[in-house]
Amino acid sequence: MSNKWKLFWAASLGFVMLFQACVNSWEELIISLEDEKNMGKDFDGLVRSGNSEVMQPGESIFTPQTGNQEQIAFYQYYQDRAREIVNAIDQKDWDALLPSGYTKNNFFEFKIINSTQVNAFAVPGGYVYFYTSILKQFQSESELMGVLGHEVGHVVKHHSRQGMVKQVGASTVISIFLGDGIGGLIGTLGAQFWLLDGSRENELEADEMGFYYTNKIGISSSGLSTFFSRGFETDAQGNCIDSKSSLTDLLSTHPPSCERVKENNKRIEKSGQNPQTHPINKNTNPSFTQLRDAAGI
Ligand SMILES: [Zn+2]
Repeated sequence: MSNKWKLFWAASLGFVMLFQACVNSWEELIISLEDEKNMGKDFDGLVRSGNSEVMQPGESIFTPQTGNQEQIAFYQYYQDRAREIVNAIDQKDWDALLPSGYTKNNFFEFKIINSTQVNAFAVPGGYVYFYTSILKQFQSESELMGVLGHEVGHVVKHHSRQGMVKQVGASTVISIFLGDGIGGLIGTLGAQFWLLDGSRENELEADEMGFYYTNKIGISSSGLSTFFSRGFETDAQGNCIDSKSSLTDLLSTHPPSCERVKENNKRIEKSGQNPQTHPINKNTNPSFTQLRDAAGI
């Protein structure tokens, strides 16, 4: 090999190593972690101000009423469970998630929205939203934790960024955002994009993360299965039948799928989880459902 080629390969290798050290995907070269955080922060501003692009009539941010001990206790419980999931995130994922100026303690924000929609969603930069109507549907702490883990998984895996890039291209995303801000992005991608759910691959990956976190924490990962199973019925052959259930809103953005339930059950079986190591309700005094019902949610 001539010296010229040696130099070329050394330079190429150097570039690849530099690339790997600085960014975690090519998309991040154009949409930085700071950009993602700013998009999420701006989106959250629209939610908080009740902007009609992202909030339906009658929807508002839920905050515990001053002096209402039951609501305060439930809200604290919700924040504590979310924190448990956040604490289960691997270091390598944090390295690909935190923009400068943020820490593991202040990156994620978990909100509740008063709404009749049965849904939960996450936007870039660590903003996670649960509608009150989905909280009403959960029958155990495991169901809450499974969906919390799933939404955190979307953020950790940058699924919104991937989806945006797929729809309009990374440089278009960033030029719209820098030009017209979050309103421009919502206009281009459609509000539904943000209350998303994405591709089958992304859903399965988020489910996998939900399993991973619940398994690591020591709570049953069966919640995702039991919750999603209520969204459809199966015939004698085990095929999904769409049923008109109260999960309609959720299922329009999180496609109902026997596959997801089957995959989750397979993971649980492989892990050897049992009710002693991974109970369905870990915090039982008071339990999730008791706290929620007392809070009037
Ligand atoms: Zn999802």
